[in-house]
Amino acid sequence: MSDIEKITKDLLESIGEDPNREGLIKTPLRVSKSWAFLTRGYGQKIDDLVNDAIFHVDNQDMIIVKDINYYSLCEHHLLPFMGKVHVGYIPNGKVLGLSKIPRIVDMFARRLQLQERLTHQIANSINNFLKPKGVAVVAEGQHLCMQMRGVEKQNSTMQTSSMTGIFMKENKTRKEFLNLIS
Ligand code: ZN
Repeated sequence: MSDIEKITKDLLESIGEDPNREGLIKTPLRVSKSWAFLTRGYGQKIDDLVNDAIFHVDNQDMIIVKDINYYSLCEHHLLPFMGKVHVGYIPNGKVLGLSKIPRIVDMFARRLQLQERLTHQIANSINNFLKPKGVAVVAEGQHLCMQMRGVEKQNSTMQTSSMTGIFMKENKTRKEFLNLIS
């Protein structure tokens, strides 16, 4: 029995359940597998994900990948939060294969997170990796820790953004990005 299986069994007992009843007997094993998947981002590195999918370009046209769905776990309550991420950048000689941006988002989402940090880490890693003119990341999130408990604000969405380089310095560029993702 793995650590997570043992802990899950203890948790079931602590809340007054019988971990040996039919419906729960395999729950610790399922939870253990589920956690391995939901936190697999800890074992991933951007270099492996990108795997040489870097291409050279001469232009400096804005590249946007929008509506990337993500699922993460809030580090305060271990409850899911999920939503969409929009990523834009202006290349400085190098671009990433398009499918790589959602994989970078996934790598950071599959960890215990805060939406603010998730947004920042995505922007920061693309910035460090490509050294572009600038990166802009906007995330929207629905947090089950807010919706199921606490304030129970069912329909509130949280928005976070992180900008580097030209997106931070130039109003016009930032506005263009925000227009294109809205
Ligand atoms: Zn939370």
